[in-house]
Amino acid sequence: MPEYVAALMADVKAKNPSEPEFHQAVQEVVDSLSIVLDRHPEYRHAKVLERIIEPERVIMFRVPWMDDHGNIQVNRGFRIQMNSAIGPYKGGLRFHPSVTLGILKFLAFEQVLKNSLTTLPMGGGKGGSDFDPKGKSDNEVMRFCQSFMSELFRHIGPDTDVPAGDIGVGGREIGYLFGQYKRLRNEFTGVFTGKGLNWGGSLIRPEATGYGAVYFAAEMLSTKGQTLEGKKCLVSGSGNVAQYTVEKINQLGGKALTLSDSNGYIYDEEGISKDKLAFMMELKNVRRGRIKEYSDKYKSAAYTPIDPKIDHNPLWDHKADCAFPSATQNEINGKDAQNLLKNKVYAVAEGANMPTTLDGVKVFLDAGILYGPGKAANAGGVATSGLEMSQNSMRLPWTRNEVDDRLHLIMKNIHKTCVDMANRFGTPGNYVNGANIGGFLKVADSMMDQGLV
Ligand code: NDP
Repeated sequence: MPEYVAALMADVKAKNPSEPEFHQAVQEVVDSLSIVLDRHPEYRHAKVLERIIEPERVIMFRVPWMDDHGNIQVNRGFRIQMNSAIGPYKGGLRFHPSVTLGILKFLAFEQVLKNSLTTLPMGGGKGGSDFDPKGKSDNEVMRFCQSFMSELFRHIGPDTDVPAGDIGVGGREIGYLFGQYKRLRNEFTGVFTGKGLNWGGSLIRPEATGYGAVYFAAEMLSTKGQTLEGKKCLVSGSGNVAQYTVEKINQLGGKALTLSDSNGYIYDEEGISKDKLAFMMELKNVRRGRIKEYSDKYKSAAYTPIDPKIDHNPLWDHKADCAFPSATQNEINGKDAQNLLKNKVYAVAEGANMPTTLDGVKVFLDAGILYGPGKAANAGGVATSGLEMSQNSMRLPWTRNEVDDRLHLIMKNIHKTCVDMANRFGTPGNYVNGANIGGFLKVADSMMDQGLV
């Protein structure tokens, strides 16, 4: 089996050069699956894994738009339609200058397994652009979104591919994208999730990823007879996922100590209370300011700017019980993981996608702490998107409690799947193996059923 894995990875690297994040995501999954492929040679004969790592379709397009000064700008747009074995392609759009084909392929690949874990009928996809919404006026963002959708609209649809938000794509962007889709198609359908409540959105969708990550952490803690009550928590990011992670930590009696953006982080020794969180949400979602302003306003908080010269992130070097990385990929390296252990952190639930490097993952697994990888811990967002699709199909909205209860149940079920799969394949407590195997089996069996397509 090691030869099979090595040959597969060599092929992935040769075929997809300059895509290190994609290699990393595949490596982690292939390592988990080697025992499955050993026990089930039929998957190997059918080349199921080789097929899963090859996108069904990649769409790449020009996005020209005009800025407020009348200058023409050109960005690049993408949609990766990765796998449709169990449902229409589903996954967010990311607008960030770091976006490349390789980053979106890693996200789309993870999304396939994550969506399978939710138990809902959703395939996997991802898309976005190297456009940077930061510092742009609302009109510039609207013109960009309209140009982006003028190409994307012909490739998506409620039964084909249903995008949502991700980094840099929140309620404002989804509104502009949906508006242009509706105009071009002349139809009102649930082609997006994360929509506004007045036009087909679901209650709890904005909260879902953060709430879900905390529900997942609570489930992991419960296996040790513990709860979040009184737990000190480190949270990174200050966007959608981080905000509702802090809200749910507070609701369950924990204490969130940190938040960050791409310039630096704050450490508030008194905890980020409900009022402080409300200030931060206004700062980030309305004024679109920087996290440093939090420490200007609250004297209990210290601000540390990013120092590109150091080899670790000091946010992860504080005494705590739990960590919720909720910003971006590879924000916890091997040294950060060591620092977390040194500071007595014993539960990590990933709100972000692949926030821990392979070195960091190894540190957590070797230490045997409660480590919930992103494709399980942050699946609450896409699961609630699935619930939004159901409500759109029925043309009936559910109440806040109804959606939250379903989200909570889905997170419990995902946790149970991870635990059961890890046990079944001989690695109890290993949520990485549990999530990868649980996600893979359903997609693999569906692909076998559907023949060579
Ligand atoms: P937002 O755009 O709302 O927030 C992202 C946050 O992360 C911001 O604070 C941003 O800071 C910071 N950040 C982004 N890129 C970098 C970077 N390269 N270096 C340092 N900080 C960075 O995005 P979300 O909260 O929606 O997404 C956060 C993570 O969660 C992503 O990994 C995403 O893929 C994942 N995720 C999101 C889901 C969702 O439903 N939204 C679902 C599942 C996973 P700044 O403002 O300075 O850029």
